[in-house]
Amino acid sequence: MRRQEVVMLMLQQRQQIVDYGLKMIRSGLTTGSGGNLSILSAADNLIAISPSGIDYHDVTAADVVVVNRAGQRVEGERKPSSELGFHLALYTAREDITTIVHTHSVYATTLACLHWEIPAVHYLVAFSGDKVPLAPYATFGSAELADNIIASIGSYNAVLLANHGLVAVGKDMKSSFNVAEEIELVARIYYQAKSLGQPVLVDAEEMTRVTEKFCSYGQQDKSTS
Ligand SMILES: [Zn+2]
Repeated sequence: MRRQEVVMLMLQQRQQIVDYGLKMIRSGLTTGSGGNLSILSAADNLIAISPSGIDYHDVTAADVVVVNRAGQRVEGERKPSSELGFHLALYTAREDITTIVHTHSVYATTLACLHWEIPAVHYLVAFSGDKVPLAPYATFGSAELADNIIASIGSYNAVLLANHGLVAVGKDMKSSFNVAEEIELVARIYYQAKSLGQPVLVDAEEMTRVTEKFCSYGQQDKSTS
């Protein structure tokens, strides 16, 4: 059977994973083959996930792996990301999400190495919620890491992984990627503010107001796209 005759499952989502993998590299959110991305197709209960250990510059749509909710490979010859376990666990725990972006972005990871959460140092932390929580350390790819992420993320859109990196979730790839990008900015601001003094945090009442504004902004954004 010739390759070009094969109609790939989740072709559009596979291509998005290729595109956003490149975006992740170009925006400096990760390097080499670090981090990973996935998209859930709720309609057919399939997940497209980036392959393990292939440089984002070299990944093609055919390299993206399609698995079922149990993690069994349905289509694709590559090995799925070593973090498939926590992607599956997140889709089960969070019925409101259909995309996951995992990065090793430098400032977020720096704070994760200190085992700090990111507080409301800047209103843009609302991309996650009123803070970015921290998941305790566990070996990459382990069931324990998946458990720690689920226990820590709650209803937030981002979570730091101790001594590891960041996970961002959302309703589409654009919003998950935005969360990863904006939280990296907030992490950098927090790092810099901390190195000069004691940052003044945005209070809880104001963060509630901002989070509400973000929700309505998001809806407006969606209706125009
Ligand atoms: Zn990682």
